[in-house]
Amino acid sequence: MKILLTTSVIVEASSDEDGGSPRMEEISDQLLSVVKKAFSNSLDVQAVEVVSYHWLTSDDVNSGRCNVCNAWVTDRNQADALNGLREAILVNGNLVCDQCQEETKGSGKAPG
Ligand SMILES: [Zn+2]
Repeated sequence: MKILLTTSVIVEASSDEDGGSPRMEEISDQLLSVVKKAFSNSLDVQAVEVVSYHWLTSDDVNSGRCNVCNAWVTDRNQADALNGLREAILVNGNLVCDQCQEETKGSGKAPG
C-alpha cells in the first residue's frame, strides 16, 4: 500500500510575482530540498519532487479564512477542495476549520 502525504507553505507575494519568479523558484527549491533531506535515510519514505502553486486570493480557487482562528482553509464540501490546506465547512455562512469545530464541540456555543 502507498499513502501520499501532503503539506504546504503559504508565501506572501507581491501582485507582480508569479510562480516563475526567481524568489518563488528559490522557495520552491528550498522546500523540495528540506523534504528530500529529511527522509534521505528512510528507505520506505520517498520524496515526490513536485511543487504545486495555488493563488489563494483568486476568486476561482477554493480557499478562504477560518471565521474563528483566521487560518487559511478550503471548503471540503466542494469538489475543488485543495489538498494541503486545513479543511473547513460552512457554519451559518462562514468557513470554520476542523480544529475550531472540535474546540467548540462540547462548549455549547456555536462557532463564529
Ligand atoms: Zn479555525
